[in-house]
Amino acid sequence: MIYVLLGANLGNRVKTLQRAAQLIAEHVGPVVQQSAFYETAPWGVADQPAYLNQVLSVETTLPAENVLVQTQVIEQELGRVRFEKWGARVIDIDILYYSDLVLKSDTLTIPHPYLHQRRFTLVPLAEIAPSFVHPVLGKTTRQLLAECDDEGEVALFN
Ligand code: ADP
Ligand code: MG
Repeated sequence: MIYVLLGANLGNRVKTLQRAAQLIAEHVGPVVQQSAFYETAPWGVADQPAYLNQVLSVETTLPAENVLVQTQVIEQELGRVRFEKWGARVIDIDILYYSDLVLKSDTLTIPHPYLHQRRFTLVPLAEIAPSFVHPVLGKTTRQLLAECDDEGEVALFN
């Protein structure tokens, strides 16, 4: 099982996330669980619209490197739609976990290096995988969230 974080902050964010989940199901593997959408304060640069985030669990037979290639193709496909000139990204897809694999290459780090530092990742992840144990830190999502000192706002989005 893999866990991916979707993020969108431009255009029709709900539509983008729904389309991303569809494309992931087609090109990576069946989506098993999806968290709710969460609206989250932008990180770093404050002068941009709020993000909509969602975490998916996906069953896949692809090796990790191929998952990254597929998610980057999906990012490009969705990113190209209508907002070509804007520069800012319509969609970001990050691989959080690939089962309990630990991997570090030039292009791919798993578990995602910042997942335990970001409430916008931990809150949706805790909804669908509260007991999943981080293979390096040895802590569950619930524990990581309780210990996370990120104060960024993460609100359930209806
Ligand atoms: P960010 O997600 O940090 O805002 P990008 O989406 O532009 O930035 O990703 C930058 C690079 O991060 C990608 O080209 C990819 O090779 C690399 N990367 C490393 N680990 C991961 C991961 N676990 N998931 C997604 N991308 C990753
Ligand atoms: Mg990314």
